[in-house]
Formats: sequence, C-alpha cells, structure tokens
Amino acid sequence: MNPLALYIHWPFCRSKCPYCDFNSHVRERIDEARWRRALLAELSHYAQETAEREIASIFFGGGTPSLMAPETVAAILEQVSALWRVAPDVEVTLEANPNSVEAGRFRALRAAGVNRLSLGVQALDERALQFLGRAHGVSEAVAAIELARQTFARFSFDLIYGRPGQSVAAWERELARAIELAGEHLSVYQLTIEPGTAFATAHARRDFAMPDEETEAALYEATAALLGAAGLPAYEISNHARRGAECRHNLAYWRYQDYVGVGPGAHGRLSIDGAKIATRQRRAPEIWLAAVEAAGHGTEERVTLDADARRDELLMMGLRLAEGIPRRRFQRELGRDVETLLDPNRLARLMEAGFLNLDAERLAATSAGRQRLNAVLAALLG
Ligand code: SF4
Repeated sequence: MNPLALYIHWPFCRSKCPYCDFNSHVRERIDEARWRRALLAELSHYAQETAEREIASIFFGGGTPSLMAPETVAAILEQVSALWRVAPDVEVTLEANPNSVEAGRFRALRAAGVNRLSLGVQALDERALQFLGRAHGVSEAVAAIELARQTFARFSFDLIYGRPGQSVAAWERELARAIELAGEHLSVYQLTIEPGTAFATAHARRDFAMPDEETEAALYEATAALLGAAGLPAYEISNHARRGAECRHNLAYWRYQDYVGVGPGAHGRLSIDGAKIATRQRRAPEIWLAAVEAAGHGTEERVTLDADARRDELLMMGLRLAEGIPRRRFQRELGRDVETLLDPNRLARLMEAGFLNLDAERLAATSAGRQRLNAVLAALLG
C-alpha cells in the first residue's frame, strides 16, 4: 500500500493580506472546541476508506494554523494516530506567522508533535512588509526564524519577490540575508496579482505597477543562481532545499501521490480500486462546520477523474519538479507510455525550444520551461 499524506486546513487569520487568495478569513471570535470536534470528525470520516494506509506526512495549512491552540494540534495528531498507522519518521509541518504571540507557542507546538515549521516571513525589508500588509517587522521575523531553528528539527520560511519597484540588486541583498538565516529549505514565490484580492483592486486603480517581464525574468534567474550557489537548488518552481531536505508533504502532491484533505476547502486525491477520486470540502468555514456537525463530513464534491484529467494533473504537478516525471509513473497512473499520451509534434516543438526534456528515464521541464510552466502546459496539452 502506498503511503498517504494528510492535509488539515485551518481557515482563520488575524487579518487578510492584500495579495492573498487562499481560503482564509478573519473572525472576531471562534468556538475552538467546536472546530476541534469537527476536524476530528472529518478525520474519522476519511479514515473509514483509508485506514489500512500508512500516514507519511501531515501538513497544517491555512489560514494561519499557528493560531490554533497547541491542544487542538495535539488532539488532531492523537486522533490521526488512533485512526491510522503513522510512519515512525512522519513529517509534521505547521505553517506559522512570525509575530511574537505565535512564536510564543512554538515549544508547545513541538510538544504536540509538530517537527517542521514553515514560517511566512515574506520579506526582510520593512517597507516591503508594510506593502504586503504583514503584521510583523524584520526584527520579529529574524527572531522567529532563530526560535524556529532552536525549536524544530526542520524549518523553512517563505519570501515573496517580484514586488513593485524591486531591483535585482536589492533582491540579491535581501536574498543573501535570507541565506544567512535559512536552514535547509526556503520557499521563494513570485508575487502575482490574484483576482478578487485587495491588490487586484489597487492594481486596477494603478496604485502600483508590477515589474515588467524582463525584470521578472532577471529576478527569477538571480534567485536560481544565488540559491543554487548557496547549496539550496530549486527542486520545484518556488522551493529550494539541500538534497534530502525537501518538504516531503509537498513532494507527495507534485509526485501525484494520494492525500486526504480535511477542513474548509481542502482537496484530496485517493486511488481506490484503480480509480482516482478527487475530493473537495465545502469552502465557507461556517457552512463546512454545519455540514460536518450534521453529516460527519463537509465534502462538497467527490468525482472520479477520467484518463485525460489524470494525465493533465500528473503533468501539471510533476513538471513543477526539477526531477520531472519518471516514465514508470505514467505507466502506474495511466497504464501507458508517455509517448502515447502526448501529441508528438507539440512535444517535439517544446523540446526543440529548450523547455522540455524526454529521455530514457523521465519527462522533465528545463529551468526555462519551469519559469513559464503555464504557457508550456498550454502548448503541450492544447
Ligand atoms: S496570513 Fe497567510 S493565509 Fe492569512 S491572509 Fe495572510 S497570506 Fe493569506
């Protein structure tokens, strides 16, 4: 039996960041005991069909899961151990913000069973932090990184680049500081303007201008060069790590392995009797909560993916990774060779242009291909 990854969504934040299109909400108060009961109930629901599997990774995402009481995290992890076999080296990641209130909980979160922390630092520049609407300053971020290093076996932090007015030289200085502070993993995302966010409105009003394409490309290349030289090469479009320090949970998504998703808006993928089932929980927090209290789960959608959808997802996920997609994965998922699944002319054009490689072992996107993966996928799949 293949191992299983488990995602738990905590949908609440102290404030809404202007760039954020995640399923995150601000509430004056929540009844945490009620939320805890609902998450435990939904875990039991999914364990009914997956209890024979072993849990290899658990990821608390959000929202801001570091706002959960450590007792809630402990209760969830106890429930997971009661429902499934858990791998002895299970990776348990929790996303946290660097402000001091949340940092004050790090030790209690470790005692609850968290062994990897992912910190939403986003910038090491005061003005950029203000622009991004973050509630912390640079010194708080640095202190939280230090505390994470002392407290957890593994930690990572996130940065956002491609900000308005950011020069390559300024980004290189900021990234050099980040490398000094980093452990074995760093996530570096390019700022994008997502529809429906406060930034989308401000950008449409011309409150700020995004960097042009040339600057975006130069920033991407500077990131790859600096982090590669520091021993943190990109193993995925936005994720960098020393060999062996990759986030195992996220690798499960990109390698198209199975995962259970619980909590509002969480997605899951389950292989059952040769079929691939896609699950999605109700997105609005209170509606999800009411559904779980009424029926034991908040599943809104459960569909069996057809062969085309499985191929597309396999490519969309796997081509994000520097390692690409081994040929045997196409066989395992679809029972066919990669050549028979793709249009040979489209594939040849993308290989000639230097965006894809296909050899005896695997199909992979080059660094240039990963930089513009959406366009590559559109050209590959039509
Ligand atoms: S803290 Fe994270 S999840 Fe919450 S609003 Fe900000 S970016 Fe979104």
